[in-house]
Amino acid sequence: MTCTEAKFIGVNRHRIGRDGDGVTTLACFYGCPLRCHYCLNPQCFDSNYKCRVLTPETLLAEVMIDDLYFQATGGGVTFGGGEPCLQSRFIEEFRRISNPVWKINIETSLNVATEHIERVAGFVHQFIIDIKDMDESVYKAYTSVDNERILENLRYLSQLGLQDKCRIRLPLIPDYNTHGHIETSKKMLAGLGFSDFDVFEYKRRKRAVR
Ligand code: SF4
Repeated sequence: MTCTEAKFIGVNRHRIGRDGDGVTTLACFYGCPLRCHYCLNPQCFDSNYKCRVLTPETLLAEVMIDDLYFQATGGGVTFGGGEPCLQSRFIEEFRRISNPVWKINIETSLNVATEHIERVAGFVHQFIIDIKDMDESVYKAYTSVDNERILENLRYLSQLGLQDKCRIRLPLIPDYNTHGHIETSKKMLAGLGFSDFDVFEYKRRKRAVR
């Protein structure tokens, strides 16, 4: 693959109110550094999964069919996964060649090196941040990795004053956290100026962690 090709597990059209404003197309990258116990997209790290390989240009040609929907509803393209921020160069190039009125959103765990967030922060319309839980031990138990980089990236977004562009998902995770943990996470995040929280409950769907 060239440096701006990337693997995708799917491209889904006509999503409304789920991944950003207006009508959106959700483009999901292959690859994720986390191993969440209730992951709904385990194909993201299944080495046998038959991914699609796209360039920014071929993805643009595919999503262009909804240009009028995007323009009429204030929608655009949302990148998910897996972890889309690992493909920040691809997203940067897609932004450069796509219709500038389209909104570009990112669904991310923020558990990536800050250089990736720096690359996209200037043009992302909304970061939909799946934070899991701010408690280090809850996070590690649920995802199998630590959350140090998340705090660093939250501070970075906060310093840029981009809190209004961030919606933070705070799930109740059966067997892993409690409503008390969620309240504590909210207080920590509010201390950094974040205020748009989406609290909900994960469905229990345990899988074997690889
Ligand atoms: S962040 Fe967790 S839930 Fe999302 S794709 Fe990765 S492992 Fe699955």
